Amino acid sequence: ALNSQWVREWVARSAQYIADNRTELIRLDREIGDGDHGENMDRGFKAVSAKVTELPADASPSDILKTVATTLISTVGGASGPLYGTAFLKASQAVKDEDELDGAGIVALLQAARDGIVARGKAEVGDKTMVDAWTPAVRAAEDALAEGATEQQILSAAADAAKVGSEKTDPLIARKGRASYLGERAIGHRDPGSVSSALLLKAAAEVSP
Ligand code: ADP
Ligand code: MG
Ligand code: MG
Repeated sequence: ALNSQWVREWVARSAQYIADNRTELIRLDREIGDGDHGENMDRGFKAVSAKVTELPADASPSDILKTVATTLISTVGGASGPLYGTAFLKASQAVKDEDELDGAGIVALLQAARDGIVARGKAEVGDKTMVDAWTPAVRAAEDALAEGATEQQILSAAADAAKVGSEKTDPLIARKGRASYLGERAIGHRDPGSVSSALLLKAAAEVSP
């Protein structure tokens, strides 16, 4: 099962992946947005890393996720700040009172995060947003859980599906966010928020239980 140490390491690895991919996220957002997604996310996750490090040693998974949420909301800005903030806030609420997350707990966390993004941004699969990464990730996690997969396998299934979902945004016309102003000119470009989402889930899959 995944404990608060696991959540801390997930956060740290996420911050690392976002920093490593800052330039790429900027490049993608320049193509179909305003070019700030890499900066927004890197600023946010650097702040998150610092805040999580300051938390008391006995902070629960829910406490840590809540700190991630509030920090992202106050530091990321743009469309993605409130969306990721809501995702982590809902995830925090979904695992309240749990010291360790089993497979069902992980699926509940991912579902809550995705549902938070959808409730806030009203995007559906196919709208060329981060939902195109999260929804297939949640489905893959649910399927893996139903098949009796381990926690690690559930997270790997989610991460793989998020990456494929992100790649599938390339040919789409955007129906939400700044890219929706471009119409057909968005075709052939990957949605930056789907890429950052896939990175967060890749980080989760790589942290050992
Ligand atoms: P901004 O567009 O305000 O500059 P960012 O560049 O940080 O914000 O984030 C852009 C990303 O936010 C997009 O690539 C997309 O994935 C996501 N996004 C924008 N609007 C929505 C929405 N309504 N629902 C889900 N995701 C969205
Ligand atoms: Mg932007
Ligand atoms: Mg912006």
